[in-house]
Amino acid sequence: MAKTPTQDLAKTSVQLTHPERIYWPDDGVSKQDLVDYYALAWSRMAPFVVDRPLALLRCPDGIKGPRFFQKHAWKGINPHIEEIADPEDKDGEKLLRIRDFDGLAALVQSAALEIHPWGTTTAHWEKPDMIIMDLDPGDDVAWSAVIAGAQDIKARFAEMGLASFVKTSGGKGLHVVAPLKPKATWPNVKAAAEAIAHGMSADSPEEYLSVAAKAKRAGHIFIDYLRNGRGNTAVAPYSARARPGAAVSMPLAWEELTEKIGPASFTVKNAASRLNDRFADPWADFFEAASPLKS
Ligand code: ATP
Ligand code: MN
Ligand code: MN
Repeated sequence: MAKTPTQDLAKTSVQLTHPERIYWPDDGVSKQDLVDYYALAWSRMAPFVVDRPLALLRCPDGIKGPRFFQKHAWKGINPHIEEIADPEDKDGEKLLRIRDFDGLAALVQSAALEIHPWGTTTAHWEKPDMIIMDLDPGDDVAWSAVIAGAQDIKARFAEMGLASFVKTSGGKGLHVVAPLKPKATWPNVKAAAEAIAHGMSADSPEEYLSVAAKAKRAGHIFIDYLRNGRGNTAVAPYSARARPGAAVSMPLAWEELTEKIGPASFTVKNAASRLNDRFADPWADFFEAASPLKS
């Protein structure tokens, strides 16, 4: 008899108020639906959101209401969301961090529909543990060209001795992420990301842009290397997106990256089939695959 796939379900003591509240009205996705999705994703997602400073996109009335991109605590914040001092800004406003699934459930309870961590943990603030390349296609860019761009970045990372992992953004593009041993500092990591972007636009100026001011030019892919400065963020693997469709940023295996999969193919509603022990975690080796950035 076929074995039923087992799903590793995280549990929380956080009480949701109004679990039936709809956050994505066109998709019928509620607060409870979002927590249920994260409960399935948690074992895979945790290393990318726990103990990292977080920025949040909060939408108290769902995706059609007002939204706030928020890096600091608010009045009445849930105690499972910790306030932490930035060691470089000890007197400044506190930043936010979670430690466990209760923290993530508390974020959902607080209508944080998108979670954007720093590319480092609070154990080594000044030394990022990943480089994130964000491919931002302008209008009129074929999806096959975005895939080719991601593969180009993978090849450039490989030349630097770095492994790379790909995920959908849940929006319009792809993110290619290289795990790092946390040794190089922010300016060095950002310079490496910038060099990749400039290398691509120099080699294929018809396809790629690496200057932020021109990022919106139609027909080109902006290679957004700016996710890599101290305090910059990118959407977390598995985070939902506060956009119609309730897509999520989904880690992929490189072999999966074909024209069959689009940037918003995976959603809060359809992701469950990947989040069980029948479907290997495509980013399982992420931190084991880390190498130091060579200077
Ligand atoms: P897409 O594939 O549609 O580009 P994306 O997540 O890559 O999706 P971008 O616009 O390329 O979106 O990236 C914006 C990044 O800037 C986010 O990842 C976020 O972490 C960061 N950011 C900084 N300030 C804001 C803000 N006010 N609102 C939203 N994002 C912000
Ligand atoms: Mn992007
Ligand atoms: Mn971008």
